[in-house]
Amino acid sequence: MKTGYRIILQTFDMNSPKEAINSTEIKQGEIKAPINCFDFSMEYEEQILFLRDSLNALISEKVKIISDLQQCPKCSGKLIKKGIKTSVFHDVLTDQEVKMHRVRCNNCKHELPSTVTAIIDGSMSARLAKMQAELGAQHTFREAESIFNNFSTVKRKINNRNRIKDIANSVGETIQKIDIDEKQMLSEPEAKELVINIDGGHVKTIEDQRSIEALTSIIYRPENLQKDADGTRNYIERKSCAASVKDDDQEEIITNTIVCALKEGLTKDTIVTALCDGSTNCWKVAESLRPLSKTMICILDWFHIGKKMQNIAVPQELKDKFENVKWYLWRGKSQEAIGRLTEIIKEAVGTPFAKAVKKFMGYIQNNIDRIVNYEERKNKGLVFTSNLAESTVESLINRRCKGHQHMRWSREGLNPILQLRAKLHTDDWNNKWRTVIANSKLKAI
Ligand SMILES: [Zn+2]
Repeated sequence: MKTGYRIILQTFDMNSPKEAINSTEIKQGEIKAPINCFDFSMEYEEQILFLRDSLNALISEKVKIISDLQQCPKCSGKLIKKGIKTSVFHDVLTDQEVKMHRVRCNNCKHELPSTVTAIIDGSMSARLAKMQAELGAQHTFREAESIFNNFSTVKRKINNRNRIKDIANSVGETIQKIDIDEKQMLSEPEAKELVINIDGGHVKTIEDQRSIEALTSIIYRPENLQKDADGTRNYIERKSCAASVKDDDQEEIITNTIVCALKEGLTKDTIVTALCDGSTNCWKVAESLRPLSKTMICILDWFHIGKKMQNIAVPQELKDKFENVKWYLWRGKSQEAIGRLTEIIKEAVGTPFAKAVKKFMGYIQNNIDRIVNYEERKNKGLVFTSNLAESTVESLINRRCKGHQHMRWSREGLNPILQLRAKLHTDDWNNKWRTVIANSKLKAI
């Protein structure tokens, strides 16, 4: 005997569930013993069609409730059916064709909604919008499109790269608005201490060969910096991230950073430790937290000092002296370090090396008040460098915006993506996405 199967959607009265009202067959086929990894359940294309047909049957039962209304909701007049309208609902893996009766009131001419857009003010599921925004923030729009195509098994217009870009932008802009509203109603348990790292990253522009600078900040409680078992890598268990590339005198990054700090529990009793790379822009962002905190310790990030020294090619005969500079800086003896640097410049006068050292000395002089005894801080287990944790510039900017040839950005195009990436790296995206999606413009182009 050959055994067939049938999958049916059945509706019933919930008060007498044994009797069926309506049955719609979704799928039928033959039951065979599975023999390999292709036929064990259902081929993937078949699964997608099965999902599509199941959802179609369910959706048509749902929309029937609207067109089966007997009385006009406005005037209680008689409703009359006038033909059928077809529209499309885009779900995560499928496009659902939705057929609805056009229904009009004979009395007041009021028309019931008969298309997807008339019902939900758009045509896509919230989850698809969330995934488009996430994939668009994590990959190039082209890559995101191809990921969607892979999972859907077919090319779908809704997932074309421009469409993904629009959704990611809209969601990114909404995040910004919601964060500002949120600032008023934050009530987090207060933090005794907070650490903030601020850093800038450069991205190529579309306009010319120059680059634009995006600023990022990450805020966390020191106790949330977790060391891995073998001490090789650290991660931050809970953190808030902000980013902005707006040309607005740092206004947006400051607002976003304050919201993040409040989320992490900043109060008038909090001690804030700020680590920066030394640029004026970064310090300005850090300083915005000073009036909101008890005290603030600004530290020139040891990571950046080390990196800058590493990038200078030192002639053999001056290696010891140059190492000496590092020794002084590590112990917070910045005056002695500057003395050494002056000697080195004199000895190497006229060389490219002297020029590089001079530039480095300027960097140290500009940040002299923020050079601390790093060795002592390290021994006491206090923060002194940003590279114990992940780099926000790396994760928020470089991973998405660099390493792709020809990838160029405008401030307007990049900013929403940065907002989205900052949100994805902050730990509350999963609680927040419904609000964000509900407030974003998702209408089809
Ligand atoms: Zn009416």
